[in-house]
Amino acid sequence: MLAADNDLTPVQWERVRSAWGGCAYCGATDTPLQRDCVQPISVGGRYTVGNVVPACRSCNTSKCNSEVTMWMRRKKLDERLFLERLSVIARTLADPAPDPTVAEPAITEPDVSDIDTEGCVSGTT
Ligand SMILES: [Zn+2]
Repeated sequence: MLAADNDLTPVQWERVRSAWGGCAYCGATDTPLQRDCVQPISVGGRYTVGNVVPACRSCNTSKCNSEVTMWMRRKKLDERLFLERLSVIARTLADPAPDPTVAEPAITEPDVSDIDTEGCVSGTT
């Protein structure tokens, strides 16, 4: 079941990362960013655009399985700004509007030949 829950695609991750432009928590940009689940997997969080943010190693390690707002308060980070950005970014990225600048991986095409007009054929008898 776990594998089926990893529904953040590499393309979505790229978008999430570029939307945040750095560590979602402290804003660091000069460091490798890791995928961090806002709501930890251990408490039911999932790898989705609304729950995964880029985090620097230091934030990721520090946050670990903490509840995000508690952790941010403890770290004196701006949790309100974070939650606002999170909801805006999640909404933006959930929008399926095609972005011509991003090359989507090939979408498996439906087998068109199977779609027929059977229902429209009128009339025997
Ligand atoms: Zn950070």
